[in-house]
Amino acid sequence: MFIEPRVGTSLAASRRGWIEVVCGSMFSGKTEELIRRLNRAKIARQQVEIFKPALDTRYHAEDVVSHNANSIRSTPVAVPQEMLLLAGGCDVVGVDEAQFFDESLVEVCTQLANRGKRVIVAGLDMDYMGKPFGPMPALMAVAEFVTKVHAVCVCCGEIASYSYRIAASEDKILLGETDSYEARCRPCFLEGMKEKAVEPISSAAKH
Ligand code: ADP
Ligand code: MG
Repeated sequence: MFIEPRVGTSLAASRRGWIEVVCGSMFSGKTEELIRRLNRAKIARQQVEIFKPALDTRYHAEDVVSHNANSIRSTPVAVPQEMLLLAGGCDVVGVDEAQFFDESLVEVCTQLANRGKRVIVAGLDMDYMGKPFGPMPALMAVAEFVTKVHAVCVCCGEIASYSYRIAASEDKILLGETDSYEARCRPCFLEGMKEKAVEPISSAAKH
């Protein structure tokens, strides 16, 4: 269980910011954990702003919604720079589906933390091929706290770290739900990729 650092103190007064990353596969509880942390910050009377990429409209145009229907009001943004303008007065910044943003998210989160804000970023650490996804690896490197959460493998019941794509599309970004992806453990992911006759994790493959 992640214990929030100094959640009850006034962040603005301390001017001490930091970055937390919550990562894992699809269905691993990233959004649930993000909402949990943000709700606790609200209970501590901190000003909270939540952002998500404008392209992620799966459940709701403005809310961040978890697979078990928890939700919190958010602001969709097209590019990370918008967050610098919109997060001016808040103590805590939440970002969901961070993997869909470009690399500039790393600089934006760093700037927000340098300004004394607590920045909590949730996102997929790997894409459907098992490769590091977008800005996530760099965010994990610069974060003070990294939490990797796990789903349950739908094939065998072990802990799952991979998002196995059932749908045939080869686009890197395919917004989808239970009908497009499955949470799988390593052996069951590899088994599925073998069946698809696709090389899963190749160091030669480009991102
Ligand atoms: P994420 O943001 O990581 O995709 P969410 O926080 O939206 O995940 O949803 C997590 C919820 O998904 C779980 O609490 C559970 O109700 C549901 N769920 C559906 N399939 C699975 C699975 N294979 N493993 C774990 N949880 C699952
Ligand atoms: Mg999510």
